[in-house]
Amino acid sequence: MSRKRILVTGGAGFLGSHLSERLLADGHEVVCLDNFFTGTHSNVAGLRDNARFELFRHDVQEALTMEVDQIFHLACPASPIHYQRNPVRTIRTAVEGTLNLLDVARESGARMMIASTSEVYGDPAEHPQTEAYWGNVNPIGPRACYDEGKRCAEALATAYASQYGVEVRIARIFNTYGPRMHENDGRVVSNFVVQALSGKPLTIFGDGKQTRSFCYVSDLIEGFVRLMASEHGCAPVNLGNPRESTMIELATLIKQMTGSKSEIVHEPLPKDDPVRRNPNISRAQKLLGGWTPVVPLEKGIAATIEYFRGVVEG
Ligand code: NAD
Ligand code: UDP
Repeated sequence: MSRKRILVTGGAGFLGSHLSERLLADGHEVVCLDNFFTGTHSNVAGLRDNARFELFRHDVQEALTMEVDQIFHLACPASPIHYQRNPVRTIRTAVEGTLNLLDVARESGARMMIASTSEVYGDPAEHPQTEAYWGNVNPIGPRACYDEGKRCAEALATAYASQYGVEVRIARIFNTYGPRMHENDGRVVSNFVVQALSGKPLTIFGDGKQTRSFCYVSDLIEGFVRLMASEHGCAPVNLGNPRESTMIELATLIKQMTGSKSEIVHEPLPKDDPVRRNPNISRAQKLLGGWTPVVPLEKGIAATIEYFRGVVEG
């Protein structure tokens, strides 16, 4: 393996910090760029002493120049409560941020992977979702700033690939969880675990029969690394774990595994909350050298509980 200089935008966030750690372990130089909107210095504290690691505060809405070999473009708030706080800024981050990074890729000849999302499928009419499905997204709903922003980012990346020959990879990421999610991230796994550990009620939105398919972070990062290395081109690739759970099942599992006495309560379902979501990962399995998630939900949740015990108990 030759040592590469790799830019990770959103590198101080949940996924970005795990990716940075993995790339350093693989012997690369990592330039981590973040505006610390949802990312934290503590996420990358363990990497700061590594001479191959650099950290910059920068907002991807602003243009930048940099000589790098590869770009993993992850910068964007990912949790509904965060991306809906300032929807215009979310769209700008997704669209202008991706444009700015595509320009860096074009100028430096870097290969670039963009972190897209299963949200491009919206509230899917097709189940499980294959990459061929075009989605069912409300363009004016509360999730539109994120969903449409990411759809536009995919369109931009594809246009840069066809028009300028930029080497683009598109990862459609399904719900991923694990250590270093923010305590107040707002996504369901961290919410339930933190609630269970602090003796607060577990808040199920709606009847809890909606489904998601949860992927442990190390499995996703392995998929990122393989996708970046693959020669298959710019067609999007689903990355996620096909095991599907209802929110009731997830809450029950987390309650059992933490031994928590917290009650389970129901709160209103947010508008446009997708009813079900499940990845078809055949394309990834075929193109990424047999990549497949290997961490069972129970094991991943156990590691996440252990991490949050440290956070909650200080
Ligand atoms: P996260 O919120 O922990 O990380 C996002 C990072 O981007 C944070 O460090 C944040 O400070 C940074 N950021 C946000 N706006 C920025 C800006 N304008 N300029 C520079 N930095 C900025 O979320 P995550 O789960 O690590 O998500 C990372 C990426 O993966 C996001 O693009 C997200 O859309 C995508 N994704 C994640 C999931 C998942 O389940 N974790 C699913 C689908 C897609
Ligand atoms: N959810 C929930 N309780 C919470 C947070 C989320 O029941 O405290 C539900 C949410 O309504 C959705 C699912 O869990 O149906 C996943 O939500 P999350 O925000 O983690 O991801 P996304 O909706 O973006 O897939």
